[in-house]
Amino acid sequence: MLKIIVLIGAPGAGKGTQARLLESRLGIPQISTGDMFREMKDADTPLAREVRGILASGMLVPDELTFEMVKARTARGDCKGTFVLDGFPRTAVQARMLESLSAQQGKPIEAILVDVPAEILERRLTGRRSCPECGEIYNIHFKAPELAGFCDLHPETELFQRADDTAEKVRVRLETYEENTKPLLEYYEGSGRLQRIDGTREPEEIYKEMESLVGSSVVVG
Ligand code: AMP
Repeated sequence: MLKIIVLIGAPGAGKGTQARLLESRLGIPQISTGDMFREMKDADTPLAREVRGILASGMLVPDELTFEMVKARTARGDCKGTFVLDGFPRTAVQARMLESLSAQQGKPIEAILVDVPAEILERRLTGRRSCPECGEIYNIHFKAPELAGFCDLHPETELFQRADDTAEKVRVRLETYEENTKPLLEYYEGSGRLQRIDGTREPEEIYKEMESLVGSSVVVG
């Protein structure tokens, strides 16, 4: 059955990791609004400058703009079948916008919460470092590279910290999640469309459960 899988989780819960695994192993396209905004922000346009400012602050991009981007992206051929939304919706308004897309495409929404307590999230986010060359993600607290500050796979390449992973920005992002996105759990739970996964375990363990929730009935476009 075709569906729209919505991954919900606080920043640092590991939704991106799970969405990428679903894409590489089951071929389900991963639509990450955060990645799309990060790609967009390097352009030299007024819109890109606005997005750059919002991302750096840890706050949310306006709903209309975000939805326009999701609509355009999910209209592409690879989203004819099931796809995964990673980081959308993040507000009640966006959730309502998604209902219209779901009706239009004739695909029901299935929401999955990747659940991780707040105190773990903070260390996951502030400790996160990435390789600009290959995208490999490390964590100075949980998964340090062999040589501090450098990628194991590209030993000459220095790891970087995302601008919004600093302690102050992480606090804003976690507050934004509590305030805007957490209420969506009740929304999806109330309509019987929410499943929960314990996100404190190893990615592979989480993935197994994820796959058993979504894998059997997936048809990709
Ligand atoms: P993420 O990588 O999912 O943590 O997203 C990074 C940033 O992109 C967020 O802090 C927001 O500024 C922006 N963003 C991503 N998804 C959304 C969304 N659905 N609505 C508004 N802003 C978003």
